[in-house]
Amino acid sequence: MSQYWSPIVSKLRPYVAGEQPRTANMVKLNTNENPYGPSPRAIEAIREAADDRLRLYPDPTATELRETIAVRFGLTAEEVFVGNGSDEVLAHAFQALLKHERPLLYPDVTYAFYSTYSLLYGVEAIEVPVDDGFRIRLADYDRPCGAIIIPNPNAPTGIGLPLTGIEALLTAHPDAVVVIDEAYIDFGGESAIPLISMHSNLLVIQTLSKSRSLAGLRIGFALGQRPLIEALERVKDSFNSYPLDRLAQLAATAAIKDEAWFETGRRNIIASRESLVRELEALDLEVLPSQANFVFARHQSRSGAAFQAALRERGILVRHFAKPRISDFLRISIGTDEECARLVSALKEILAA
Ligand code: PMP
Repeated sequence: MSQYWSPIVSKLRPYVAGEQPRTANMVKLNTNENPYGPSPRAIEAIREAADDRLRLYPDPTATELRETIAVRFGLTAEEVFVGNGSDEVLAHAFQALLKHERPLLYPDVTYAFYSTYSLLYGVEAIEVPVDDGFRIRLADYDRPCGAIIIPNPNAPTGIGLPLTGIEALLTAHPDAVVVIDEAYIDFGGESAIPLISMHSNLLVIQTLSKSRSLAGLRIGFALGQRPLIEALERVKDSFNSYPLDRLAQLAATAAIKDEAWFETGRRNIIASRESLVRELEALDLEVLPSQANFVFARHQSRSGAAFQAALRERGILVRHFAKPRISDFLRISIGTDEECARLVSALKEILAA
């Protein structure tokens, strides 16, 4: 606390990011990164551009990248917004589209940034509890609201929503913006992008951090009809008129074009997830049904915190959230098969102790 702080600062509960260890020998299954690395074409694009052109400002409209994303998803560049990671795109959406007189609805349990941004931007929010199976019940969103934000699949549970449910939600709330945060959609979920042309209240947000393995470059994007994208642009231009640096724009463009790399990587992760789930269940862990590049699992013998500490001692990082209802769970990112095997043998050792 300090007398110099704006009043809002003392109320903030900032998001706590997962650990990024300074040593390379940890098995890192704690922040849902992709173990396979980005497309070699993205790395090549950065190498080719790393020269004295860096003295120039980047393209303030990121036109080539937006056109590439538009082509990939069957939209126009005017229906694409890009930003520094989907976290920044979400921040702009909270200011531009989710703050109204009526409250914003989002699930409890969900991505912790939603409550952080609600506080930061003064958005009145109602957290709608998930059911006993940690599922989002869309019928519970049938109440007056100004906007809705839901991740599909949800985080940190990994549970996906069917497209028919999202469509019903959009139709039931024509006056409310519905944001679907699809950070993990490529690992088995059903994207809402095909609904954009029919629903002017739908904004879909995706990231290149997970299925395209570019978390270090910070690239996210939003897709929606023109009026929603224009609102995001107004906020962005009032904040920082350069959406992404030069290298990020080029690498992202190359990554989106490398469909083969993307497809192989995401299939590998889905296959590894399915076998990891079987192994965890064989150890008597309860694993929620995941459509993401992570699983959310618990074992009756220990708290999530105790498991996390025991795994850390064995060189393995996983995530645990000290929150009611989910404090006995571990969120485990899908690594390479070798990393998953190390996790399983460490869990066996811990459970035998
Ligand atoms: N949405 C959800 C649900 C997430 O879990 C994450 C990753 N922490 C993000 C958005 C943000 O991802 P990024 O900023 O790397 O695009």
